[in-house]
Amino acid sequence: MLPSGTTIDAPRRPAPVIGVTCGRVITGSVPRARTNLAYLRAVEAAGGVPVVLPPVEHGDAAERAAAVMTRLDGLVLTGGEDVDPALYGAVPHPAAEPPDPLRDAAEIALVHAARERRVPLLAICRGIQVVNVAFGGTLVQDIVSECPHALPHALKETRDTRSHRVDVMPDSRLAAVLGATTLPVNSTHHQAAGTTGDALRVVATTADGITEGLEHDDARWWMVAVQWHPEELVATDEPWDRMLFAAFVEEASRRA
Ligand code: MN
Repeated sequence: MLPSGTTIDAPRRPAPVIGVTCGRVITGSVPRARTNLAYLRAVEAAGGVPVVLPPVEHGDAAERAAAVMTRLDGLVLTGGEDVDPALYGAVPHPAAEPPDPLRDAAEIALVHAARERRVPLLAICRGIQVVNVAFGGTLVQDIVSECPHALPHALKETRDTRSHRVDVMPDSRLAAVLGATTLPVNSTHHQAAGTTGDALRVVATTADGITEGLEHDDARWWMVAVQWHPEELVATDEPWDRMLFAAFVEEASRRA
């Protein structure tokens, strides 16, 4: 018999550990690993423990990805530089940024390792492009020059402004998670998914036909890829982007 006023807590799951990829920059002469705090804060706010994953500089990317994936409950692929066009059989467009081949290799290996173990994956901006390339798809290398009638998508000065509408397929995981089939989002990208990779499905688009969301055919793998930046929108009045991080971290917590 418990003293009155005592409650029994339901067994608590440990907080899920979420890998968050990062890029490499040189500031002055100092090489640094870099990612935006917004990703880490959004994961933390949703109840996850973010762990930054740098590109693999020593050793085999696939081996390292497989090793780290046994210890992760979820993975976030973050924004960054353009993917090397050679990885999808294209020559570089003049507007393409210099690639980071080690980051490309590390993140593509992480996608396959996550797929292998069905580790929940939230892919953002460059992340949706990495996922598409990892599964054999291509990219639009420069929306402005390749799709002249497209909406403005490269609005770098307004990271937390909802600047264009996205239509989400009603039967998608993304629609279920957001609780919406149309929503305004931010847009700070000059590339986008082109032909869709194997077993992937376009689940969100803008009115100009640009791909803004991808999912995988395997319903048992929680994989949501978006072209916008939900991590920059979690503090807005609208709930959609918080709900996306909440659903992702909740799914990851089932593995923790
Ligand atoms: Mn966009």
